Amino acid sequence: NIANPVEGLLKQKLKPQITGQLLFNGEETYDLARKVWNGMIDRKPAVIVRCLNSSDVSHAINFARNHHLTLAVRGGGHSLPGYAVCEGGMVIDLSAMNKVTVDTASKTASAEGGALWSDFDKATQDQGLATTGGTVSHTGIGGLTLGGGQGWLHNGYGFTCDNLISAEVVLANGELVVANKDQNPDLFWAIRGGGGNFGVVTTFEYQLHNIGPLVLGGMILYPMEQAKKALQFYREFSMSAPDQLGMLSGLFTTPDGIPVIALAPAWFGDISDGQNVLQPLREFGEPLADLIDIIPYVQLQTMFDAAVPHGMHRYLKMGYLPALDDDAIDYILEYVSNKKSPYSIVLFNSIKGVATKRAPADTAFVHRNPQWHFDILSQWSDPQDTAQNVQWTRDFWQKIEPFTKGTGTNFLDADDGERIKTAYGENYARLSLIKTKYDPDNLFNINNNIKPSS
Ligand code: FAD
Repeated sequence: NIANPVEGLLKQKLKPQITGQLLFNGEETYDLARKVWNGMIDRKPAVIVRCLNSSDVSHAINFARNHHLTLAVRGGGHSLPGYAVCEGGMVIDLSAMNKVTVDTASKTASAEGGALWSDFDKATQDQGLATTGGTVSHTGIGGLTLGGGQGWLHNGYGFTCDNLISAEVVLANGELVVANKDQNPDLFWAIRGGGGNFGVVTTFEYQLHNIGPLVLGGMILYPMEQAKKALQFYREFSMSAPDQLGMLSGLFTTPDGIPVIALAPAWFGDISDGQNVLQPLREFGEPLADLIDIIPYVQLQTMFDAAVPHGMHRYLKMGYLPALDDDAIDYILEYVSNKKSPYSIVLFNSIKGVATKRAPADTAFVHRNPQWHFDILSQWSDPQDTAQNVQWTRDFWQKIEPFTKGTGTNFLDADDGERIKTAYGENYARLSLIKTKYDPDNLFNINNNIKPSS
């Protein structure tokens, strides 16, 4: 096969070794399997290896390494730059490895590396348990955990990586190892924030928390005329509330075309205490709608899913705001008022409490200050609109970047190459040494890459 010179070799050598599937261009499932969340990405790998277990992953890694194939690893496929898929080369696709098992006695969950948060939440919520996970349920646990991981629960229970107890990792040499505080502690440190640079994680083990099946949460919507006051209120309220409160804010256009600002709280604690805590919020301003209620946690976890569906074209800029200055608010409102697509969203998430109690060097994830996550997510469906949406986002970002301090690897886009080192911050040098030990030839490089030290 001239179009795909490795196809024959893969069928002859790799296929008999694995229990999963090899997918090639021209086959029915291939085109679906190469699609990722960001519709801007259109890459054709030479092969997609849909693995079913660690042994499949190990054989696939050995083949890619021995034959010098570019290697991408797919968890949930949500990374903005489309790191889950490569042009030519091999994709190790973990999407069929999505089993989650819960041990109620130890309050822990063991999840395969390709699980999504929807898989995880369903299994853990059957027991009223949860850990800090993404706020969109079709995001992968893999990339999110390895890049730190924030959500509704980080103020009360730390970032996702803080709740990781142990992991099984297939290394660049094909060996399966355990990483936890006793075994390979350097690797365990590195995978809590250092991304997919060190190997393929086939199992993540998490600490769970008893949050119950119901939470007090949702959102309150205000018209844009009240947006400045609402953001000023959010600034004070989100940072002074108890740590059992997770709180986001978003600027978006409703499906019926009304631009709004949402203040979105979720209370993890006694419901009547939560009613008291949320009272000032519910009395603030003149909302268009108060959608706060006692809801299942899984409903909270899927509340934003429809706003960010698979396949649209995307471009994102993100940074941490140590303060939420009035000047920054003014710029944000100015740019939002002339956004180029009704689907584009601006998002804030307040970070405080347990997530900020660890030292920056405790885990590879370095961002431990009380602050706000801020991002501009441009979304549009017609490829012809790409240039104007990207330009709008860049202009907007140029105004806001001076107010930010650092960024997180989970929220970098394809043109953020220079910001990768900033995102790892003061932990970069140590990460680079650990990379040299576990992946000296940089086999795992389709990611926010950490270079082996020379
Ligand atoms: P993928 O693109 O599959 O993987 C991302 C990177 O991780 C790739 O380099 C991949 O090779 C590597 N990887 C994935 N799984 C493994 C594994 N098992 N072993 C080794 N390497 C692996 N982040 C948050 O922290 N909180 C949020 O609430 C949040 N919400 C989001 C909502 C949306 C709609 C989107 C698009 C992103 C969101 N993110 C959030 C960012 C998200 O954490 C990153 O995009 C992350 O990379 C997604 O992981 P994934 O497994 O889905 O993606």
